[in-house]
Amino acid sequence: MAQIIDGKLISAEKLTKLRQEVAEFVGAGNPIPHLTAVIVGEDPASQRYVRHKMVACKEVGISSETKWLPANTTQDELLQLIGQLNGDDNVSGVLVQLPVPEHIDERTICNAVAPEKDVDGFNEINMGRLALDMEGFVPATPLGVKALLEHSNIATHGRNAVVVGRSKNVSLPLAILMHSDGKNATKALDATVTICHRYTPPKELARHCRQADIIVVAVGKPGLITKDMVKPGACVIDVGITEITDEKTGKRKLVGDVDFEEVRQVAGHITPVPGGVGPMTVTMLMYNTLKAAKTQAASRLV
Ligand code: NAD
Repeated sequence: MAQIIDGKLISAEKLTKLRQEVAEFVGAGNPIPHLTAVIVGEDPASQRYVRHKMVACKEVGISSETKWLPANTTQDELLQLIGQLNGDDNVSGVLVQLPVPEHIDERTICNAVAPEKDVDGFNEINMGRLALDMEGFVPATPLGVKALLEHSNIATHGRNAVVVGRSKNVSLPLAILMHSDGKNATKALDATVTICHRYTPPKELARHCRQADIIVVAVGKPGLITKDMVKPGACVIDVGITEITDEKTGKRKLVGDVDFEEVRQVAGHITPVPGGVGPMTVTMLMYNTLKAAKTQAASRLV
């Protein structure tokens, strides 16, 4: 039976450490780090994610603010607000909760956030830096997956990994972080990575997964990864989140992409949903916000 990787517990430990680091940073005479989140429209999941982020800020001693904008906000209005936040010395980190409404171009918005305040790591500069093994902001979910693997002592160096999903904000940076050179600035994981996506035939997906020592799945399709696709002893990290109605209770609940009850019988390690990658994502956002505040403080001294 697989060992459960408890993302809630690991993230609580990391938050405690971050709280100490924030206190030391502020104690040394620096301003309290500040995160501003911008949310456009009324998507309930986005609102829930932003609330979680604000709660985490409070927990670690980072000040925060959410700018709630109506769904009919124009792209120019949003760009103007991002410009103001970029220029505000009291703001350490800026994030625009995705998705934005369809009339707004997501890439234009991500690129408008100043690279040094881009705590989501979605700006083209930070994405390029990650691809080139350079210091920068790495998106929080891939950072969280890396932290879970490291905390659980999962060997990655030279091992076979499959990343299921190829999105630009989650799976691609994850695949970069998993295969890149651990000796460089991003301290990546040196695995041999195969990327599968919507056009990978199901038979091929199963074949690739069966060869993997580590499977990380970020798709949003409950039950995609089944027991027969997992090599005995492999580590299975489930990034997917889908809200469904529980057949037994009739209540809404969150599930991942992995058939958890079945796969845990063969895997060596597995993350649950909820309580796996989700809490780590929020924690690594706090890590990135403190990092932004520290970098900005250092650059003011020069
Ligand atoms: P996305 O919709 O942008 O990407 C989904 C990816 O899945 C695509 O690249 C697509 O090619 C691939 N895909 C679709 N069907 C497939 C199939 N049958 N086989 C293989 N690949 C297939 O989504 P995203 O933003 O990358 O998020 C993925 C999932 O992760 C979602 O469920 C999202 O809610 C979740 N998520 C979780 C966290 C967290 O903190 N736990 C953070 C971000 C996203």
